[in-house]
Amino acid sequence: MSQTETPQASRKKPHERLNLVVLSPHRDDAAFSLALSIGAWLRDGHSVTILNVFTRSLYAPYSDADSVHENDRLSYVSAMRKREDEEFLKHIPGATMVDLNIKDAPLRLHCDASIVCDMPVDPADGAFAKVHKGLLRHTGKPNTALVLPLALGHHVDHRVTRDAALSLSADLPCAFYEDLPYATRDGVSIDLKRFREDVDAKYHEHLVPVVSDHSSSIAWKRQVALGYTSQIREDIADLVSNFARRYHGNERLWANEAFIALAKAEHLGKFEAHAEPLPA
Ligand SMILES: [Zn+2]
Repeated sequence: MSQTETPQASRKKPHERLNLVVLSPHRDDAAFSLALSIGAWLRDGHSVTILNVFTRSLYAPYSDADSVHENDRLSYVSAMRKREDEEFLKHIPGATMVDLNIKDAPLRLHCDASIVCDMPVDPADGAFAKVHKGLLRHTGKPNTALVLPLALGHHVDHRVTRDAALSLSADLPCAFYEDLPYATRDGVSIDLKRFREDVDAKYHEHLVPVVSDHSSSIAWKRQVALGYTSQIREDIADLVSNFARRYHGNERLWANEAFIALAKAEHLGKFEAHAEPLPA
């Protein structure tokens, strides 16, 4: 993507306005993993579009969904989770959300919710084409950068989202975020290592860590996370927000060369010379 022109972008600052496209496998992933960064990008005058991928869902462990008739439960839970996202939007004024309306793993793959982090990705999963198509509709604008999950924790929906977008990563500035709360768990450092090796081998992309640099607080992020009342309780909101402490109150992305160049020009974050290890 050319970085030399901003045809019709409104210039809120002397440098270029970026079109940051964030892929969120489920409704809460962008908030849990990237709320601080999204808030900072918006304050800096960039545009942020969050693409929510698997928005049709029955998953709402901390809700009254079980009291609703089975026939109505899918629309009930999907609508409830949409309202939680609308609350998130109030914390990040100016951001845009687009729902891809794809069924989540238990509905799409007819599996139990307890095995979604332990199952292989099916290359014939129809979601690949839908995610790819959805992405193409939003990545054609000038100065687009793509932000997507590393899929730490192996959730099959996160892996499908990430892999559906991988072929675009060679042509776009691209950065992968550390999925929360999964990134807090032991064993994820090996996931990260393997994925970086994979991307290196397949796409000749050497991902390097960039730590965002902004002024929002950990307490604000905790508040944002707590808005997803059907998904988590306070313990997970604490895990998700306190994870930023390891990066001095920030979030970390793993970026390709084109994204690093943007990050330097647009002050999106600092290259982390001595990468803080993830939980082993
Ligand atoms: Zn998720």
